[in-house]
Amino acid sequence: MKETEMKASLFCLQCNDDTPHSIIYINDEITSVRCEECQHTVSIQVDIMKEFYKEIYERVFTKPSRITQEYRQDLSHFLSRLPFRVASKPYRLMRDLNESRKLIQQYRNKKKSV
Ligand SMILES: [Zn+2]
Repeated sequence: MKETEMKASLFCLQCNDDTPHSIIYINDEITSVRCEECQHTVSIQVDIMKEFYKEIYERVFTKPSRITQEYRQDLSHFLSRLPFRVASKPYRLMRDLNESRKLIQQYRNKKKSV
């Protein structure tokens, strides 16, 4: 899960003008748009847990086609090797999960404070 910031010129209702805005994305979903002139912020409710699970699902279940071929060739052999393959990439996955967890925390806190 990734938070991305983008700058764009948009029309601000408060300033009644085109002003620079910063747009925050979680993955591909826009979560907030802030006017940099008056700081007026429009937040868009992102289902952060949905994004999180979607990402986990894609990461865990969208296997490279190589695995699918092996799976077709020999199911039992594939299954006996699976734990090792899953264990071979835990570092990256865990690091991403930690980042995602941090973001979820931030968003939960944000919700509470509103
Ligand atoms: Zn503004």
